[in-house]
Order: sequence, then C-alpha cells, then structure tokens
Amino acid sequence: MELRSEGVLVLRKGRFGKYGGQYVNEILMPALIELEEAFNRYYPTPEFQGEFQSLLRDYGGRPTPLYYAKNFSELVGCKVYLKREDLLCGGSHKLNNALGQALLAKKMGKTRLITETAAGQHGLATVMAGNIFGLETEIFMGVKDMERQASNVKRMKLLGAKITPVKSGAGVLKDAVSDTLREWAACSQTTHYLMGSTVGPHPFPTIVATFQSVIGIEIKQQILKKEGRLPDAILACGSGGSNALGAFKPFIGNKDVKLYFVEGGGESLGADNSAAAFQLGKPGVLHGALMQVLQDEHGQIKPSKTRAAGLNYPGRGPEISYLCETGRVNACYTFDKEVFEAVKVMCRTEGLIPALETAHVIAYLLSHREEFGRGEVVILNYSGRGDKDLKAIMRYFYGP
Ligand SMILES: *Cc1c(COP(=O)(O)O)cnc(C)c1O
Repeated sequence: MELRSEGVLVLRKGRFGKYGGQYVNEILMPALIELEEAFNRYYPTPEFQGEFQSLLRDYGGRPTPLYYAKNFSELVGCKVYLKREDLLCGGSHKLNNALGQALLAKKMGKTRLITETAAGQHGLATVMAGNIFGLETEIFMGVKDMERQASNVKRMKLLGAKITPVKSGAGVLKDAVSDTLREWAACSQTTHYLMGSTVGPHPFPTIVATFQSVIGIEIKQQILKKEGRLPDAILACGSGGSNALGAFKPFIGNKDVKLYFVEGGGESLGADNSAAAFQLGKPGVLHGALMQVLQDEHGQIKPSKTRAAGLNYPGRGPEISYLCETGRVNACYTFDKEVFEAVKVMCRTEGLIPALETAHVIAYLLSHREEFGRGEVVILNYSGRGDKDLKAIMRYFYGP
C-alpha cells in the first residue's frame, strides 16, 4: 500500500508537459525512488562536483574545443562552429553521462553496472567509467547491432565488459532496453542501470540531461569569448536527446537562440523506412515514460530504421518531446543518402570523419543553407567521430 501511494506521488514528478512519468512495474519503484534520493543528495555537494569535474577534465579531456570550421562555413554560407564532443575520450559525448552516473552508483554502494547500447558508444563509455570505479559491467546489445558495430564490441570486450546478446524482438536497441529493465528489476540492490540517453522513467531523463549539460555550459562560455554574443542557432542530432539537451539546456531561456533537433529520416518517410518519430510518431508509452514514439494504428511500437545505429530508436525522450511540441525546438530530419554525402563533405572541407549520427546535422545545414544568413553564428554539436562507422561508409561509397 505504502509503495503504491508513494508511486502515485512520484508520478507527478518528472513530467515535461504531458511527457515523462514512471510507467513501470511496481517492483522497480523502490529502485527509482532510491536513485532520485541519491541524486538529490549527492549531486549538489562540493565533494561530488569536485570528483565529477576533475574526471571530466583529466580523464575525459574537457572542456572540448569549440572549433570555427572556416572551410565548411564558406560552403554553407553562415559562420559554423563545431562543438568537438568527438574529442571527448571514447569518441562521443556519452562519457559525460557515464562518468556522472558511475560516480553516483559508487556513492550509492552499488557494485555492478548494467546497460544497453546500439552503436556501442554508450556501452564503451559505461565500461570505461565502470573500470575507473571498480564496478563490474554487463552490456545488453541487440544481435543486429553487434554485427553492425563489431569494432566497438571488440573494444568493450577488451575493456572487460560482459556482453549479453539480445535476440528477442528485432534484436536492436529497443529490445535491449527492455531486457536491461527486466534485469534491473531483479538485481537493483547491488546494480545500477546506467541509462544512456534522456529516456526511461523519471528520474533518468533529468539525471542524464543534467550530466550532459556540461556541453551547453561550455558552449556558452566559449562562444561569448569568441564572438562576444550568443549564437543565432544550435543544431544537434538525436534519438533519446541526450547530446541535444546537453547542448540546448543552458539556452532554453535565450529565446533568440534557435534550436534544431535533427532525427534520422532513414531511406524515406515511407511506412517502414524511417526513424523520424517527430514526423511519423505520436505520444505513447515506451520504456517507462510517455514520449513521442513510432507506433502502428494499434499502438504497437514500430521499429525505427536508419543507418546510424545511435539514432535507431523509436522514441524521443520526454523533455525533447515536450520542447518540440511547444515549438521551442525545431524538429527536423535528414535522409541516409544526404547523410553519407555529408560525411564526405566534412572529410574534404575540414579533414574530420564524423559519426553517421553527427552527419545528420551536417547534412541538414548543407540542404537548408537558405535558412541561415551570412552573418549568422551557428553551432553544430559535433557529437562523435566516425571510426565506428568506417565500414558502413566505405561500403556505401565503394561497394562491398
Ligand atoms: C548515441 C549517439 C547519439 C544519439 O544519442 P542521443 O542520446 O540522442 O544524443 C548521437 N551521436 C552520437 C555520436 C552517438 O554516439
């Protein structure tokens, strides 16, 4: 009884408009309550902040640079800065959140981390953070994703993670998340579920966005120093929304800063060829929260489709769902074909190989040049590097 009433109380929290909440089995409620209390207790303390900041700096390599991409700017016609999350240790923004949650898990006395991963970037960040704190790590990964991201699977193995292949459903991320939630329900006393994006039941979306907001805090300081003013626009790719929210959050109140969220259009907006949940989905419950989600006319979750594994998730986290619904953030998309071309453009103009996820933002700028004026300062959140996608990129351009 007590648990139920507490559960209902908590349900009001963690809402972004109608989105969010805690749509979970009661078995999970004590773990979610424990996590929320621990985050509220430890996160604000100078001790936690000190440890977190020093790890971000000395292990992660923060602050990441804000690079003025002169050649790329000339091509698109506005002034483009790249926020170089590809230079964070591990090759993407994922480590910011993994370090924060692993530190929290350690403070909570947990001995083990579990998580899921699609592109492998989050699994990699989790085992790195787990090793720092001496926590055992188990990673659930869809069998399809294991094939596609073989190089990251090898890295995770070498680092000592136990990798559990997920064959259920379509063998992709959404199935791995379901399995991880199930596993967590069975062992939350010893184990922390290190959620990889701004998804899942409250308090996960808030915790992940908080740890990732270091990106936007740095952008603000860096652009003020370089340009003496705030940017005209910030663009980020995403599925759950963690790198986008990380970059956007400190600017939400700055109404003159336009915010763009680019999701995976896949091959086309045709029935089963896309991951564009803001275009093709509607509000529904997935993995413990109400959010914008791809579904069929019966409300069954539909698999997403895009060549970028990190964008291949049918849901958009509660906070980004809300911000797009209210119009504060523009929801947009680009297709796979444009994305591969964008990889080539970034390679040739700036000598950088972007992750396929990141290339969605590059593609958007390339195909919407008219939206951004000559003098405009535009920040492209460069979420990751493309080493993990090399095989797919080479196959696309040069065949098998
Ligand atoms: C995981 C990943 C993403 C998408 O995840 P979000 O939580 O929406 O940020 C984007 N880019 C890269 C490089 C990734 O690894």
